[in-house]
Amino acid sequence: ISHAFDVDKWVRGSCRLCGVGCRVDLGLKNGRPVALRGVKDSRTNFGYLCMKGMLFYKLIRHPDRLTKPLYRARKDQPFKEISWDEALDIAAKAFANSVKKYGNNSVAYYGSGQALTEETYLFQKVMRAGLKTNNVEGNPRLCMASAVGGYITSFGADEPIGSYSDIEKCHCFFIIGSNTAEAHPVLFRRIMRRKLDNPDKVKVINADPRISPTSRIADIHIQFEPGTDLALLNSMAYVIIEEGLYDKDFLSNYATFRVGKAKKEVGFEVYKKHLQAYSPEKAAKICGGNVTPDLIREVARIFATSPATMSLWTMGINQRIRGVWANNLIHNLHILTGQLCKPGADSLSLTGQPNACGGVREAGGLCHILPAHRPVEIDKLRHEVEDLWGVPRGRIPAKPGYHTMAMFQAINDGKIKTIWINCTSPVQSLPNADKYIKGLKREDCFIVVTDIFPTRTTEVANLVLPTAFHFEKTGVYGCTERRSQLTLKALDPPGEAKPEVWIVREWALRLSKELNDPVIKKCVEPFIGKEEGFELPKAIWDEYTQKLTKGRDNDFRGATYEVLMQMPDGVQWPAPTKEYALKGGTVKKFVRGLDPLADEHAKDDKPYQFYGPAHKDRKLWVWIRPYKGPAEAPDSQYPFYLSTGRIIDHWHTSSMTGRIPELMSANPYSFVEINPEDASRLGIKPGDMVLVESRRGKNLLPAKVVEGPMKGMVFVYWHDQHEDRMINRVTKDAFDPGSKEPEFKICSARIKRVSGP
Ligand code: SF4
Repeated sequence: ISHAFDVDKWVRGSCRLCGVGCRVDLGLKNGRPVALRGVKDSRTNFGYLCMKGMLFYKLIRHPDRLTKPLYRARKDQPFKEISWDEALDIAAKAFANSVKKYGNNSVAYYGSGQALTEETYLFQKVMRAGLKTNNVEGNPRLCMASAVGGYITSFGADEPIGSYSDIEKCHCFFIIGSNTAEAHPVLFRRIMRRKLDNPDKVKVINADPRISPTSRIADIHIQFEPGTDLALLNSMAYVIIEEGLYDKDFLSNYATFRVGKAKKEVGFEVYKKHLQAYSPEKAAKICGGNVTPDLIREVARIFATSPATMSLWTMGINQRIRGVWANNLIHNLHILTGQLCKPGADSLSLTGQPNACGGVREAGGLCHILPAHRPVEIDKLRHEVEDLWGVPRGRIPAKPGYHTMAMFQAINDGKIKTIWINCTSPVQSLPNADKYIKGLKREDCFIVVTDIFPTRTTEVANLVLPTAFHFEKTGVYGCTERRSQLTLKALDPPGEAKPEVWIVREWALRLSKELNDPVIKKCVEPFIGKEEGFELPKAIWDEYTQKLTKGRDNDFRGATYEVLMQMPDGVQWPAPTKEYALKGGTVKKFVRGLDPLADEHAKDDKPYQFYGPAHKDRKLWVWIRPYKGPAEAPDSQYPFYLSTGRIIDHWHTSSMTGRIPELMSANPYSFVEINPEDASRLGIKPGDMVLVESRRGKNLLPAKVVEGPMKGMVFVYWHDQHEDRMINRVTKDAFDPGSKEPEFKICSARIKRVSGP
């Protein structure tokens, strides 16, 4: 559609919505945004876009945009417009007063996988080295922290080994806990293309408790009871070993077996013994649904014997109280079968937001990690960062700050007095939302929000600062496959909206004066006087890549703005030199036997040899992880499983997609999906209003009676902002003890018909 527009100029960038990282051109006519088109040369999307991607340009000049700083001293007062000078002074005083009165841990920053890498990097630098706190978190904690934990514990380093390009070489897609068709539509198109072009060679297996558009095209749909996938995955490993389908050479050369918190090494026999509890017969009883011993055997055989198997997953695996274990068990299958480090084989966790990887995972956006994957607790690495920033040693605390759920609990408890929330809406996106909204409404917690639109979270703010949107500023996004892409500024932001990097710099300068602390100024000194549209983000990117990533696993010194501007689809790390970055960077992080940096794009005709993981023993770790059920299972009072997820037309809290008329007309509000058998038993008809209630809260939703959720399960999309339909008022805030990621995907609920359509 967008190709038909008459435009004066196209400006290059990447899509603002979802973690696929599609490359786009924004079309301008008389200086106004009028179209978006996919970039044909991009190896991510090959010119294709989904509806959301095609339409997000409509948000750039949307009438709801925030255009002036807004302030109120009390949350029960109306906002009034103020100047930037006043706003920055107020923000600086609020943080300074908290620090003086209550200490450095009374302040916090809560960011987003939608912020540019430069923004996350600068915010966390000022918080850690300037304000001496590691209270730096971001919403990726809610969606992919378990994937981080899984990669680190299985492979010794975060982020996938392979790339999307494995899709075109894959023979077996094992999609578990992901409705890829709706959540990652352009990537799903590539999977479909591969399948349709090779109907006899390629199999798609989907494992999910719900029938979805993804499962509908699958050759095999494993429909298991929510939360039982740990038993399923262990059982597949059982079959692989029992039937001798494992890769003995790969295992003996590259793997060890581990158990427990102490990561104790054990022998193969101990691992085999652990799997005895998961014979297909035993596992099928745990999994329920359509799972039979024969089905487990069939999928295990296909997985192991296919020429190349690729696993893909997302929130169904990550948003669980045993999300890290579930990630480990997927990696186990790949390590056991050698389905790694060769064309088409990979264990690839999909990411939900466009810069959860590049900004938050890589540039220091979580409370326990400094830029370039440095755990904050390791003295040597922390001091390295202090030295690189030129701040005194000891400036950054050794102790990690509050993780997301602890941070909002600390607000509830009155421990955090001032928080900066950037580009995200925790009022809607936290599980068990009502509990945390109470804290956010406290008058003794001063809240600064930077965003482009009013959201449920600006409703609890004291200071709302209007920010530049995508294409109104320059900066980098890094998507699922270690690929970073530059988006260029195409037009000025509306009204008085400003790029976040300008806001942080100006705030930090005032903060330095308020606290009489020159080190805070030092954090932003390299960026003083830089023009905000290009020079400022470029200077920040240069500092991060040239200084902080040097010698690290994500060494990205070759990916300068100049190089990124030349590349149609960005660069994949590691890419330590310009020459290497100009070839696109690293497609496979580990290949068998060759240094990946010497392996020019891991071409199919080259021998694939194992380069080596980042664990100290240079091995991949196969983990013993038992089956554990969800934090809350159905009972007589709350007899249904409730699961939440996405729909293709909307994204996240719909603060953006909810303002695009075409998307709203396709799906104006959320509803509850109910299995026809349950609906009939409870006298619920399509369109009836249904009360969905848990121990924490309730929603009133229209019923959609559909063969989607299995019997005994209901499903609700989480995008709706309406108070009665915000499903996170119902979900549970239990979280994984390792990753601290909450179990959004499973809780127990009851449903009751309230009225007719
Ligand atoms: Fe944008 Fe994701 Fe759609 Fe691609 S798939 S166009 S990145 S929303």
